Amino acid sequence: MKYVIRVVCVLLLVSCGLFMYFYVQDKKETERLKEEEKRLEEIRLENEREVLRSQLLLEAEELFKGYYVDEAISLLEKDNSLINDVIQNKIDEYKEYKDSYVLYEGTVHHIFFHSLILYPEYLFRNINVPTGGYNEGFSYKRELERMLPLLLENGFVLYNIKDIYEKDETGKMVRKDIYLPKGKKPLILSVDDPALTYGVGFADQMIVDEDGNLATKVKTPDGETITTYDGDVELVVNNFIKEHPEFSYKGARGIIATTGWEGFFGHELDTEESKNEAKKVADKLKEEGWLFASHSYTHNRNYYFGPNSNAYNIKSDTSRWKAKMEPIIGKTNIFIAPFGYRLKGAGLQVILDNGFDIYCTVASVSYEELYDDYALMSRIEMGGYAYEKYTKYINNNLFDVSKVRDSYRPPVLSN
Ligand SMILES: [Zn+2]
Repeated sequence: MKYVIRVVCVLLLVSCGLFMYFYVQDKKETERLKEEEKRLEEIRLENEREVLRSQLLLEAEELFKGYYVDEAISLLEKDNSLINDVIQNKIDEYKEYKDSYVLYEGTVHHIFFHSLILYPEYLFRNINVPTGGYNEGFSYKRELERMLPLLLENGFVLYNIKDIYEKDETGKMVRKDIYLPKGKKPLILSVDDPALTYGVGFADQMIVDEDGNLATKVKTPDGETITTYDGDVELVVNNFIKEHPEFSYKGARGIIATTGWEGFFGHELDTEESKNEAKKVADKLKEEGWLFASHSYTHNRNYYFGPNSNAYNIKSDTSRWKAKMEPIIGKTNIFIAPFGYRLKGAGLQVILDNGFDIYCTVASVSYEELYDDYALMSRIEMGGYAYEKYTKYINNNLFDVSKVRDSYRPPVLSN
């Protein structure tokens, strides 16, 4: 009996021991598994954070390139859990860049274009014959394409004219301070008379294509009509900024100076349908950062924008422009004078009374003038005449003309 009890006891002890042994082992294993799970979860979360960080860095860099530096910093600082050394270094880098901004103290340059010449060989058959007209006032597409990288290289960045001149709370016009990264210079660009009624050699129409992109319809010298995406200034500039966002300060593009009498980018504005088409183009251009200006309804020198100007005519011209163009492009406070003509006295007052307080002229050099009720800014026309006659000024202030002016260009006719 005693023997049996002893055996039972031993067996009990052994099984207790075994039980304890397995119990402990099992617990250890569970803990190990939990630890492992935790570790894997941490890795998974960290991987997720890494993906988010790379996305964040890309987004921030896009903002940064377009000079939205504060926005780029806020984006990186938004989620504390994502801030690691890499993110922190980027934040510090952006802050340092922001601290490098300096007050721009020079004159703001303003250059302007007409529609681009797409087929110079078609328009100018003999480049040995001095030629006026398009040759003098217009640039070739390939000239603009050579000019933009040079402007960028020379520190220029497109700037919004409305961020330069603004009325203060008392209604007085002020010139606002321009702060840019050291070495950067603001540039205003405008495009005149975008009617696209020039015929072969130029784009024929601007449209919004079925994918919602701006496009140009172009009649080739062979009589074919093709759709292109670089048929005029706006598209060439947009394309350049897509490649070089640093050429546009906070989304700035240029100003389009519209007349009333000739239609709008190849849309005649005589039917509801053509007005709708024009409005689609205007809306898309605005969405992309383009501003609009009045360039008068008549674009007429005699009795309007010339020495025989009178206020009565300016008044009727202005109301016609408003009636025709405001439904398409909306309101604007920018007046780009036809021929750069500088109205005085009662004629000028009509323009000011109609809400235009940025007045642009044309000159061979850049200047800005500030008055209590308006700002005045000169513009330099980019075309054969300027390339030939203002070479020195352009070389010293804007870009090397010899790298832009096309070799296939007749000499200019006027002196
Ligand atoms: Zn004009």
